[in-house]
Amino acid sequence: MAEPMLKIDNIDVYYGAIHALKGISLEVNEGEIVTLIGANGAGKSTTLRTISGLLKPKTGSITFLGQNIAGVRAHEIVKKGISQVPEGRRVFAEMTVMENLDLGAFVRKDKAGIQQDLKHVFELFPRLEERKNQSAGTLSGGEQQMLAMGRALMSRPKLLLLDEPSMGLAPLLIKEIFNIIVDINKSGTTVLLVEQNANMALSIANRAYVLETGRITLSGKAQDLAASEDVRKAYLGG
Ligand code: ATP
Repeated sequence: MAEPMLKIDNIDVYYGAIHALKGISLEVNEGEIVTLIGANGAGKSTTLRTISGLLKPKTGSITFLGQNIAGVRAHEIVKKGISQVPEGRRVFAEMTVMENLDLGAFVRKDKAGIQQDLKHVFELFPRLEERKNQSAGTLSGGEQQMLAMGRALMSRPKLLLLDEPSMGLAPLLIKEIFNIIVDINKSGTTVLLVEQNANMALSIANRAYVLETGRITLSGKAQDLAASEDVRKAYLGG
């Protein structure tokens, strides 16, 4: 077996005195979609923020492509090939769609590659091309989600971290976003997806982890978890 692309080994993360992650271990293999599901406050976003360098684990290690990245600064982590789409999108409202996308490529100098990726982003999200001169703050919620995803793709990540892409979106739009996540994965990007919409997340993921109050309580193939009585009761509405 090849080494996993990302390996988190027994990390503890604190916010001051609050012990948010208690010995979390998980792995993501190249080419997979892995999802992290769990209730509000379980520690899903904290896990992503720790991987992307916004938080530093107190103990444990995070290995990405063979290098320990725990405690490495966020922009260095982007350079290594990990990009995060934060919860609530956080696009730069006063800037245009195009300016937001340009910012996503801030760590790169290969102009030809950037143009190629911009073309790919516009293929995935034709609506962004139509609105490239519109200020991001005037986009709909779904369009802002698309922009946040497009911006993250502009760094050409090997691993894309998605934090609750379905949040606040209508069911049809959620379906569209999830189809695009599958397309992104098929075109070679590994995905770690955090979701409260466990049904949707399990339907596209290869494997899944269930997080409860800072601990992983279950893990396995997504289809097995989707069929599990315990998971159905707790996270899939019975
Ligand atoms: P949600 O789905 O609601 O976003 P989550 O599973 O992503 O939940 P986290 O946001 O990772 O959960 O929060 C994990 C725990 O850490 C919670 O108890 C939360 O209150 C706490 N927490 C998160 N951010 C901070 C912060 N900046 N300061 C203090 N505590 C925090």
